[in-house]
Amino acid sequence: GGLRVHVSPVRIAGAPAALAAFEDLSALEQAEAIRRDFVANVSHELRTPLTALIGFIETLKGPARDDAAARDRFLAVMDSEAGRMMRLINDLLSLSRVQAEERRRPSQTVAAGDILQRAVLAQSALAAAAGVTLVLEAGAGECRVQGDPDQLMQVFVNLIENAVKYGGAGREVRLTVSPIAREPVLKGPAVQIAVIDRGEGIDPIHLPRLTERFYRVDTHRSRSKGGTGLGLAIVKHIVARHRGRLRIESEIGKGSTFSVILPTVEG
Ligand code: ADP
Repeated sequence: GGLRVHVSPVRIAGAPAALAAFEDLSALEQAEAIRRDFVANVSHELRTPLTALIGFIETLKGPARDDAAARDRFLAVMDSEAGRMMRLINDLLSLSRVQAEERRRPSQTVAAGDILQRAVLAQSALAAAAGVTLVLEAGAGECRVQGDPDQLMQVFVNLIENAVKYGGAGREVRLTVSPIAREPVLKGPAVQIAVIDRGEGIDPIHLPRLTERFYRVDTHRSRSKGGTGLGLAIVKHIVARHRGRLRIESEIGKGSTFSVILPTVEG
């Protein structure tokens, strides 16, 4: 037992934790190896649904040609496989856009609690369908951050989506907003937004790699729930752009808490 904590560094440079596997390579070779690895992953992730689609098309052209019931069944599967490809491509585009902007600080000032509230509203139907209750515990007052509202919305939506997916049906997902007078690593005032689930939790060995692109604890499970394996990578890069921190705490059998800590501004 015991609570396990993984704290990401304030700034996440281009190189992910997978670097450990490429320790004996030069920086340039490492970057190239990571890029190759990513391209191989993307190709594999796209080929899986495409292979299914091609298979079903062949069957519909041949053996199942005159079988109306089979046709409906196959079309439903093709629909879901095409949907998976679309989600993957959308997430890839999000990720590349976020990475391209990572060095540019957001110029707007926004209320973190308002954005969280919008994200909760946006996800409430999905949560209800999964039998999960979203409980927003307000009371943070006006914690304002220098941020990109669409990107912060995406952070909270991704974390809520995961909490709903992996948090267990019939349970609550709690969302809290807490001001921090002086955050020790950010060395200034901050706001902590936590997404707390009472799901199965995550084995501590996975925590350091959880935000890597395509890293999943259980690939089959993630796929069956419509996951692309990119959600937390997108979260990590957005949080880095906002000079914030992502903290993941989890205990097997008890649940997980994903906290986003963002520096706040006056006014
Ligand atoms: P996915 O699309 O697979 O959900 P993410 O990048 O969002 O991809 O998450 C990576 C992996 O982290 C997931 O596949 C899952 O194994 C694990 N994970 C994320 N959030 C949670 C959570 N709240 N509880 C348990 N496991 C989680």
